[in-house]
Amino acid sequence: MLRFSTVSLTSKRVTFRHRYKDQILIMSELFHAFAEIVGDVNVLTGDAISEKPKNYWDPTPLQAKAIVRPANAREVSAILQICHDVKQSVVTHGGLTGLADGDHSTDQDVVLSLTRMNKIESIDCVGQTMNVEAGCLLETVQIAATKNGLQYGVDLGARGSCTIGGNIATNAGGLSVLRYGMTREQVLGLEVVLADGTIISSMNSMMKNNAGYDLKQLFVGSEGTLGVVTKAVLRLRPETPYENTAILAFERFEQVTATLGMMNNAMNGQLNAFEVMWNDYYCLGTNEAIKGTVRPPLSTEWPLYAIVESKGANASSDQENFESALADALEQELISDAVISQSEKERADIWSIRENVDIVLSHDPKYIYDVSLPIIEMPAYLDDVGAKLRKKWPDVAFYVYGHLADGNLHLIVAPEPQNLGSTTVKKNLDADSEWYKSSNDMIYGPLEKLGGSVSAEHGIGLEKKPYIGFSRNQNELSMMRLLKQTLDTKNILNPGKIV
Ligand SMILES: Cc1cc2nc3c(=O)[nH]c(=O)nc-3n(C[C@H](O)[C@H](O)[C@H](O)COP(=O)(O)OP(=O)(O)OC[C@H]3O[C@@H](n4cnc5c(N)ncnc54)[C@H](O)[C@@H]3O)c2cc1C
Repeated sequence: MLRFSTVSLTSKRVTFRHRYKDQILIMSELFHAFAEIVGDVNVLTGDAISEKPKNYWDPTPLQAKAIVRPANAREVSAILQICHDVKQSVVTHGGLTGLADGDHSTDQDVVLSLTRMNKIESIDCVGQTMNVEAGCLLETVQIAATKNGLQYGVDLGARGSCTIGGNIATNAGGLSVLRYGMTREQVLGLEVVLADGTIISSMNSMMKNNAGYDLKQLFVGSEGTLGVVTKAVLRLRPETPYENTAILAFERFEQVTATLGMMNNAMNGQLNAFEVMWNDYYCLGTNEAIKGTVRPPLSTEWPLYAIVESKGANASSDQENFESALADALEQELISDAVISQSEKERADIWSIRENVDIVLSHDPKYIYDVSLPIIEMPAYLDDVGAKLRKKWPDVAFYVYGHLADGNLHLIVAPEPQNLGSTTVKKNLDADSEWYKSSNDMIYGPLEKLGGSVSAEHGIGLEKKPYIGFSRNQNELSMMRLLKQTLDTKNILNPGKIV
């Protein structure tokens, strides 16, 4: 039996002392030890866990031995010290919007929820940085930056639910990667708690710091397997409040890539988004028979569509540049048709076609993919995958859209589409089925030869673990395992995920 004799909070560090009588862990004692650190109300057990949904995508009850909600890094450290001592597995939860099952927990895991660590600590308008706790929502960071005449370079559809810690742990991409890069490029400093409770404070706020290894980058994209991110210093950018948005139609893929190149050159670094949708996806998002869709701004006859958006600081010259670049593309017959939004409502309607993923996801079952490959290879890859899917499932719905400029496509496969427009958002629910495995083989199979990736921006988690070898070689995988074993000697942090 494990006896917890004292848990004392000193000013600098939480010290946890215990003694073992034998190896059997009494859960109530574990909960008691957690409660001593975070308070009773912040240790959830039983119904308080099962009444929560598993995550954004899956309404089935969440499973965990306990959910513990610390208030700061010291408390995270104290909890991890206990878990490390008794070899208790820990799954960190942010906003639970992740798309790779990295948040998956069982009734044997302790869930560390960072919902209470949601404060913005400071904003430096001169250095253009923000110090923020890991549980802070992305949208809260965006709004705070804007209020200070600045902006944060990451934006994605889950902005109102996902956390900065989750964004960092998954190295989230999103809609503005072509301009600002992924989350990795926005993180100047980090505070991380290691599996044994050691707090690594690396809250660098400088653009330049080559004093040894850049440790923070180890944790960006590590999906909660190497440490718990508790704070970050984020890089901010000058505000670009004037948006110009259009939706374009194309006959051929080469016209899309030529327009992307042309707009990028013409906009002098102001091109903020270039989101491409293939016909089926566009038709679904503008199918007026389905609740939540908008009227099609362009007719539904075209094979390809793109939402293009610039952001700048000068209303009139930005608009002039944007419209003249589009006029050039029309003149060169790259674009078949175009609509430029004239109001915030029109802009929102255009974006809703791209962001209404929920409508697409209401097929059941359906499988979601996030792959990257050289842009030039995309048409042949999609033809090949589409043909294979149709051969296996003649009625398959195959939706394609994505961040084209980043070489990143999202693919959705619904083998037998039925529940078009139903309201339940679920994904990959029959993940163990033969159907899912067949679909995975068809989607992932060709990527290795093309030098592509099975995960462009969503991470590996549990979902893509069997396929990581398609995108990483044996030496890379061995080094990942070595890092994991070195930083988490007892394998308690998100065990079984990634490698
Ligand atoms: C509508 C919608 C649109 C989306 N669009 C995009 C997109 O365009 N681009 C994109 O990249 N993603 C996108 N996503 C996926 C998702 O939003 C991101 O993966 C996001 O970064 C996850 O953040 P979260 O706080 O929800 O993390 P969670 O889902 O809670 O966790 C994700 C992983 O990170 C770990 N983790 C969470 N917090 C921490 C922490 N503090 N320390 C250590 N590990 C931690 C978890 O253990 C888990 O492995 C989208 C999701 C939705 C629902």
